[in-house]
Amino acid sequence: MAGDDARGGSLRLNLRSRKVCVIGAGMAALAAARELRCEGHAVTVMEQRGDVGGQWLYDPRTDAGDRLGAAPPPVKVHSSMYASVRLISPRELMGFSDFQFLPTRHGGGDPRRFPVHGEVYRYLKDFCDTFGLMDFVKLNTRVVRVAMAPPRPPDEEKEGGDELRWVVRSVKIRESEDGITDDKVIAEEEEEVFDAVVVANGHYSQPRLPSINGMEQWKRRQLHSHSYRVPDPFRGEVVVLVGCGDSGLDIALDLCGVAREVHLTSNSSMASATSTTPAMAKMLANHAGHLHLHPRIDRLCHDGHVAFTNGSIVVADTVIYCTGYDYSFPFLDTGGLLTVDDNRVGPLFEHVFPPAMAPSLSFVGVPKKVIVPWFFQAQARVEEMVRAVEEYHHGRENAGVHKKYSHDIGGVDPSEAYEFVAKYTDLPAMDDWKRELISSVLRNINEDREAFLDRDDDSENVRQGVERWLAMSAAEEEDAAANATSAGVDDSTSCLNSAL
Ligand SMILES: Cc1cc2nc3c(=O)[nH]c(=O)nc-3n(C[C@H](O)[C@H](O)[C@H](O)COP(=O)(O)OP(=O)(O)OC[C@H]3O[C@@H](n4cnc5c(N)ncnc54)[C@H](O)[C@@H]3O)c2cc1C
Repeated sequence: MAGDDARGGSLRLNLRSRKVCVIGAGMAALAAARELRCEGHAVTVMEQRGDVGGQWLYDPRTDAGDRLGAAPPPVKVHSSMYASVRLISPRELMGFSDFQFLPTRHGGGDPRRFPVHGEVYRYLKDFCDTFGLMDFVKLNTRVVRVAMAPPRPPDEEKEGGDELRWVVRSVKIRESEDGITDDKVIAEEEEEVFDAVVVANGHYSQPRLPSINGMEQWKRRQLHSHSYRVPDPFRGEVVVLVGCGDSGLDIALDLCGVAREVHLTSNSSMASATSTTPAMAKMLANHAGHLHLHPRIDRLCHDGHVAFTNGSIVVADTVIYCTGYDYSFPFLDTGGLLTVDDNRVGPLFEHVFPPAMAPSLSFVGVPKKVIVPWFFQAQARVEEMVRAVEEYHHGRENAGVHKKYSHDIGGVDPSEAYEFVAKYTDLPAMDDWKRELISSVLRNINEDREAFLDRDDDSENVRQGVERWLAMSAAEEEDAAANATSAGVDDSTSCLNSAL
């Protein structure tokens, strides 16, 4: 997708300009849209909601008619954000390489390192405004089908005439008010042919459900974390949370003090307060009497009994499945060339290109546990396709990584993400103080899940890095503001203005 480097002072226009459809207007799609604009392509972003931001556009509605998310995709409500979400990745790292995620200097907002979700939404809105992206975004526009266009007749062939193109079918919608009734279609379906499609529809919406004995017979409330927003509806209840990932832990803390008892269940058959991580042990100690840890659930009984594999039993009012999400592309018809198998989307070269359909079809935002949007920005610049996807997956499987974690490429060891960015893009390498910061955040999160968000223990190197970052970014912001006032920001200069 990349040509020359805009940061070298010229627009990357060496490729033939294409008509590209980007599906979604979340972080990944916005990263792609801007890079494509910088390369001189004609971009249309189609977003089903009434605003940009994706997950970070908080939606108080839930999938109230299907709280488990068991119906065939897509879900009715896209965002899975709950009201209390704070970033768990430091804001110093959560920015585009050339548009830093600074605290606002004109007051308002949440200036903390780990701000509330609304602050990320504000940042993404600013990003769109600064780079004039809203001119290319069609809101309230849901893509309902993407399929290969029939080949052009030979007499119509011109440059690139035999290349794969895509028919994108979309509808204009008005979102339902309750998350139960269907969204209202407010205009006829439209079809348009594009030279390329970038799929960036997100993957934190379609609930992934476990298979637990008795789930179907359970008569009391059960929901997936996708449909959790606030703790109040669970006041005084005994709540069992299935899964101890980020959502499970966050929701457990949210419920402590509101619910009568909160029971976390791990995926292990042996969980106990003594056999767990320091962060979990601390959480259990901090909320002793309210918060309990159990091993895997053995069965759910219709009368409210929840039996665990160690023989213990709890009588619960509600079960919340914090068991993650499935990749889902319900609109995409590739004739079987691309599949999703146990959460592996494939084949996808470097998690971006399906080899048989590249480069006209690509995916931005598939990887998890990466530093975003920096990494999405790099994905949107990838231009090489040099080695087989299978080789990559085999290597991971040989190293003991389960298929369903195929796209988890950061987390404990972010080096794979660093290598990807260095190998395929011209983005500046991650500063050493930022690398140190991410390592210390990963360490802190494992030590104390509750306190890490407000910890103030940066090393001297990180402290100085943050000071330089604030100073440098503030100066850039002032320059950009001065340029915008004197010249107006149009879409061609916006790529040049972004030069570091
Ligand atoms: C509770 C929660 C907390 C999180 N916390 C963090 C965190 O602290 N740090 C972090 O880095 N990440 C966090 N994440 C992950 C975060 O969502 C991703 O980092 C990032 O926002 C994903 O961006 P995206 O653009 O890929 O997807 P999304 O943000 O989901 O955007 C996808 C967009 O596509 C649109 N769309 C989907 N289907 C269609 C269609 N058919 N037609 C048109 N438009 C469509 C959607 O409406 C949406 O706007 C969290 C996620 C959740 C759910």
